[in-house]
Amino acid sequence: MSQVIISVRNLVKKYGQFEAVKGISFDVQEGEIFGLLGPNGAGKSTTLEIIETLREKTSGEVTVNGFNLDTDPNEIKKIIGVQLQTSGFYPGLNLLELVDLFAGLYNRSVDPRELLKSVNLEDKAKNKYKELSGGQKQRFSIATTLINQPKIIFLDEPTTGLDPQARRNLWDLVKHIRAQGTTVIITTHYMDEAEVLCDRIAIIDSGKIIAMDTPDKMIDALVATGFERPKEVKKANLEDVFINLTGHALRGE
Ligand code: ADP
Repeated sequence: MSQVIISVRNLVKKYGQFEAVKGISFDVQEGEIFGLLGPNGAGKSTTLEIIETLREKTSGEVTVNGFNLDTDPNEIKKIIGVQLQTSGFYPGLNLLELVDLFAGLYNRSVDPRELLKSVNLEDKAKNKYKELSGGQKQRFSIATTLINQPKIIFLDEPTTGLDPQARRNLWDLVKHIRAQGTTVIITTHYMDEAEVLCDRIAIIDSGKIIAMDTPDKMIDALVATGFERPKEVKKANLEDVFINLTGHALRGE
């Protein structure tokens, strides 16, 4: 049995009178890829930012790797990696300079070239951030979450806006990071992505968790209610056509 690495109990967040998170509870197991899904405004970012120590909660209990959020936020900061929005990087610095900058912030010494290699960007070390493609920017921002060798990384919609090849490439990267023992918490609006990538998902709506299980069990549970897709499913979809025509190779790389 794996260990619980994040435990959230009865978490509540109010913005003034408005209750954005309404007493949610969930556990994340060490080494899993856990997806937090839900419509815009459901409370995903609020929940994650509370766990990441970036936002105050109203009430409830959060424990990360045994550290209590109320008493040991600095210990939590040391063992997590949080993905910045890609707009958060100085566009005119090259990748080596940016890695140095982040390593300095974390007070860590890293081998920048090794780090860039781990996300397949070693060829771009001397390129400025603004010269990267969308997929490369996402890979770089994931690299920066790894600088402090965290036990847990938080990825916020890492594949939004990417072409199908770059999305698949990022899935492989996330799986690779997990294979090294890192726990991954990810948000996405792409259900195919959640299905491929996540061991378990929680679906949150209007501040409440309305379902939590493996993708497979959730699908089985829906089918068991008698649900059927309205259209006959073809043996391929348009994405298959696209990948078949344009190949798996990354572009703009
Ligand atoms: P999600 O990440 O699922 O899109 P959020 O956690 O960003 O949802 O937002 C949940 C709800 O809380 C939304 O209704 C949003 O408008 C509200 N909200 C988020 N941040 C603030 C804030 N700083 N002040 C007031 N309301 C906020």
